[in-house]
Amino acid sequence: MTGTEPRVEVVVASLHPDPGPDGGHCRVTIRRPRLGGRGFGKPGDDPARWRYRSYCGGCGHEGPDRTSEKDAVEDGHDHAYPGWREMPIVAHRPHTHKRGPIARWEAAVAAAYPAGWLERQGPVLELRHGLGSRHVPGLAPGGGYLMAVMRPEPKAARQPEVQQALF
Ligand SMILES: [Zn+2]
Repeated sequence: MTGTEPRVEVVVASLHPDPGPDGGHCRVTIRRPRLGGRGFGKPGDDPARWRYRSYCGGCGHEGPDRTSEKDAVEDGHDHAYPGWREMPIVAHRPHTHKRGPIARWEAAVAAAYPAGWLERQGPVLELRHGLGSRHVPGLAPGGGYLMAVMRPEPKAARQPEVQQALF
């Protein structure tokens, strides 16, 4: 290591689920290598390629380096929660701090998802329109990710509580 090379620090972003104990069930954490110091080493180096990487504390699996956080999150879910892409797509989590609407939404999710899925921090697929395509850690019932499924705004004014998977 010379003074011109980047200092790469691996951090786990705040809010991301705990990676879990060694030998525990597989779950998803994202590591975000941070490039410190000045510059990025050799000309031609692409600092972005270091940015996001999935990590599983249960078995130590690490995904490839990704420039997009979203891709790394999906890598981690492919590893820890096979079949997650076929899970039901639910209405988006209510944008409120009121307990009632959140509790009703969580109950609808629990009814739609397989037994045990939420208990092991499985992700929940939520419908989003327009803004906000990020997968959000920690907000699924059970503490897993809310995975954004982007769809155009429908013509109908009201959405059913839970929609079946459309893909
Ligand atoms: Zn694992």
